[in-house]
Order: sequence, then structure tokens, then C-alpha cells
Amino acid sequence: MQRRDALRAVTAVALGAVAACDGAEQSPLRTADPSTPAVAPRSTAPVAPTLPDEVRHGPRDRSRIALTFHGQGDPRLVTGLLDQLRHGGAHATILAVGTWLTANPALGRRVLADGHELGNHTQHHADIKTMKPQLAYAEISACAEAVRSVTGSIGRWFRPSQTQYATPTIKSAARRAGYPTCLSYDVDPRDFTDPGPSAIVSATLAAARPGSIVSLHCGHQGTVAAIAPLLAGLRTRGLHAVTASELFG
Ligand SMILES: [Zn+2]
Repeated sequence: MQRRDALRAVTAVALGAVAACDGAEQSPLRTADPSTPAVAPRSTAPVAPTLPDEVRHGPRDRSRIALTFHGQGDPRLVTGLLDQLRHGGAHATILAVGTWLTANPALGRRVLADGHELGNHTQHHADIKTMKPQLAYAEISACAEAVRSVTGSIGRWFRPSQTQYATPTIKSAARRAGYPTCLSYDVDPRDFTDPGPSAIVSATLAAARPGSIVSLHCGHQGTVAAIAPLLAGLRTRGLHAVTASELFG
């Protein structure tokens, strides 16, 4: 699998079409030293595709989307959400608030056992874009430790709290804490305002395209009720819900 991904990445570089977000495409023509080959020989060890410091959507040429969740809320609702995802055969990315995860370690372990991905959404979910660099780092690193203590790994993704896009300060703090790529999104049905399941489904389906990253929230009954019709609607559009890592894999 890794080998195949590496070959795909090398092929993409050769075509000058490395998947990236918001104009950050890479080109082999940008190689500074003409004596340096732009494309690594295929005999070298596999290299993971490099992502920018923030991603807002995945590749548009594959019929996949990522459902991503603010990971905090009543354990009964989170359990119901995981039940719905399991029943629908979908994998998702849960971005845990550190204090919530520490209080609910069994749910964190179930997230991984069900084939989902667990990421970092700061320790206290305060407005991170207003924080001084050291406090922003402390918020991210404390949550990283919470995720690591429950799962053995800090996870791949960090999503800043209370902001869709990471500032340079947030990106720097995230990188220092072990998260080179911040996970943003391009579809926001605003489920946290409790508009009702049908509004969540219709807003998501209206905006979702191949490669979309959808922002959703654990801990809301309307979101739990929206999962089954949402997955059905995505299926009729030929879209398959995968984890963020699978979206970029
Ligand atoms: Zn959040």
C-alpha cells in the first residue's frame, strides 16, 4: 500500500500535478538546482506525499469525501453517532477536545476500533487565534498528550478551535507540536446551530463535491439523526465517506 502510494506520488510529480490546496500546487519545474533531478528514481524508499500546512479539501478527481467531527459532547450522543456511522459503513475523522477525551477514553478507543481516525482539536476549545504563541502551543500539545495517552499516538491531524482557518501563529504552534498540516474544511452545514436533520443533510449535499471536507459536530441529536440520510444521499451522488488520511492517501 505504501509502495503504491509512493509510486502514485512520484507519477503525480512527473505530471506536474501534485494534489494541493488553494493554488499551492508543486511543479518539478521549480527545482532550483538544474543538476538535481526533479523526480526521484523509483528505486528510492517510499516517500509520503507532502501536504501544505493547511488543507481545505482533498483531491477533486476521486469520488471520496471526508466527514470530520468536532469531538466533544454527551457520551450517549457520541455513541449514537458512532453507531450510525458503523451502520452506514462510513469512516470519519473525529477531532477530539482534549478534556473531553480524557474524560471519555473508552469512546476514544472505540473511534479507532471502528476504523475512524482520531485527531487533535485543542485541549479546551477556546478561541486559539487570539492566543499568544506559547499558549496556542500549550493548548495543542496538551491535547496531543491526551490523544497519545488514550491511543498511543498523537494522530495525524490538528484542527484549530473556533476558527475555520489557521493563522501563521497557529500553524507554527501546530508544527512544533507534531502536526505539519492543519485540517480545515470547505463544507459547513452549521449543524452546531441545531437546524434539524433535514437542513443538515440538504446543506451538506448541496455543497459537497468530490474531495470535500465536511465540518460536523458530535454531541448534537440532529447531527446523529442526519447521518443515515446523509450517507444515503452521498451514495446516490457516487460519493464515499472516508477518513481524512484516506482522502489524501
Ligand atoms: Zn470545534
